[in-house]
Amino acid sequence: MNFQNSLAFAQQMDAQDELAHYRDAFNFPKINGKQAIYFTGNSLGLQPKCAVDYVNEVMQDWAELAVEGHFHANKSWWDYHERFNAPLSKIVGAKENEITVMNTLTVNLHLMMMTFYQPTSKRFKILCEEKAFPSDQYLIQTQVKLHGLDPQEVIVEVKRRAGEHNFRTEDILAKIDEVGDELALVLMGGLNYYTGQVLDMQLITAHAHQYGAYVGWDLAHAVGNIKVDLHQWNVDFAAWCSYKYMNAGPGNASGCFVHEKHHTNKELVRLGGWWGHNKERRFLMEPNYQPIESAHGWQISNPSILALAPYLASVEMFDEVGMDKLCEKRDLITAYLVYILEEVASEVGGDFELITPKEIDQRGSQISVLLHGEGRELFNYLMKKGVIVDWREPNVIRLAPVPFYTSFEDVYSFGVLLKEGIKTK
Ligand SMILES: *Cc1c(COP(=O)(O)O)cnc(C)c1O
Repeated sequence: MNFQNSLAFAQQMDAQDELAHYRDAFNFPKINGKQAIYFTGNSLGLQPKCAVDYVNEVMQDWAELAVEGHFHANKSWWDYHERFNAPLSKIVGAKENEITVMNTLTVNLHLMMMTFYQPTSKRFKILCEEKAFPSDQYLIQTQVKLHGLDPQEVIVEVKRRAGEHNFRTEDILAKIDEVGDELALVLMGGLNYYTGQVLDMQLITAHAHQYGAYVGWDLAHAVGNIKVDLHQWNVDFAAWCSYKYMNAGPGNASGCFVHEKHHTNKELVRLGGWWGHNKERRFLMEPNYQPIESAHGWQISNPSILALAPYLASVEMFDEVGMDKLCEKRDLITAYLVYILEEVASEVGGDFELITPKEIDQRGSQISVLLHGEGRELFNYLMKKGVIVDWREPNVIRLAPVPFYTSFEDVYSFGVLLKEGIKTK
C-alpha cells in the first residue's frame, strides 16, 4: 500500500476501515480535556463501555438474590466461567475443553509448572529466553528451588547475538539440541514484551518435543493480538493475562490452556481444590479428589465473578469481530505507524531505531523504538501533548496501535507531535 503522511489520507483510511466504529465502544482517557491518543493497549487495554453493564448485572444479582445467585442469577455464578469456553477457545485456537479462566497469570504459570516440571536426575533443565519478563524469571527460579535444585545448573537461557535485538529461531533450536535429553521444559514468552518479536511457537514446540520435553508459553502479549493455534501446535500448556490486549481491566483473571492429551493423565501432579473436582459431585463434599477431565480440572477455587464479568464482556466483543479482521487491520495500521516513524526520522533526522522485527509474521501490534539521541524528554513531551506511550528502561518507547480502537488519524497525529517533540528539543 502507498501510504501518505497527511491528515486527508489518514481520514480516508478511517473511512474505509470496517472496524472504525468500535472506537466508540471504548472509554478513552483525556489529557488537557482532549481524548488521548492511546498506544498502551499492550499494557492495559481500554475499558469496553459494555463492561460496566456486565459488572452491574453481578452486583444487582448479588443484591437481589444473594446466595441464590449461584444457581438463579440470569448468568448463574456456579458455571459463569464456562461462558468463556466457546469464545475464548476460538481466540487461542483451542478445543473448548482445553481452556479455562482462573487466578492471575503468574499464579497460573506456577500451577502449570507444578504439573509440567517434575525434574528427575536425568531430565531437569529448563529453557527460557534471556531477559524474560521479570515475573517469568522469578517464577522459574523459585520453582527450581522448590525442587531443591540450583537455578544456575538448571536454567538455560537463549541469548541474542551481539548487536542484534531479536532472537534467531535457529539459535533457539540449536540450544534445544545442545541440552538434548536433559531438557525437561521450555517456557518462553511467545511474543516478547520488550521488542514485540513473535517466536515461531509451532516449530520450537515440535523441536523440543523430539527430546521428550514439555513446552509452555507465556502469552501475555500474544492473546488478542496475534493468532495462535495452541491445539494444532501441540503446545502442552499456555497462560495469558486478560488486561493487556484483552481489555478486561487492571489485574484481571488469567486464561489458561492445557492440551487435551494431558487431561486424563493421572501421573501428572497437580494442586487440587474443590473447583477442579468433578462438577456433578462437587457439592457432595466427598473426600476423594476426582479432577474434571478438561482444563477445568486444574481449577482450584471458585472464581471471582466480579472479575470475570468485564472479561466476559470483552471476550464477547472479540467473538463478534473475530481475530481475522482484527489481524488484518493490525497489519495495516502497524505498517502505517512504521511508515510515519520513518517519515519523521527522514524529515527531522530523529535519532532512533525500530527494534521490532520488520517481517509481518514476526510482530503483532507493538512497535518498539530504541531512542539513541532522543531520550526521556521526548517521552515526556508526547505524554504532555496527549499521547500515552510507554517507557521501558533504559531507553525504549513501546507503541501499540491496537486495531480495536486506534484510528489511522491517531497515528498521523502522533507523527505530527513526534516531529514537534524532536524539533523543540
Ligand atoms: C504482563 C506480563 C505478566 C504479568 O503477570 P501477572 O501475573 O498478570 O502480574 C507476566 N508475564 C509477561 C510476559 C507479561 O508481559
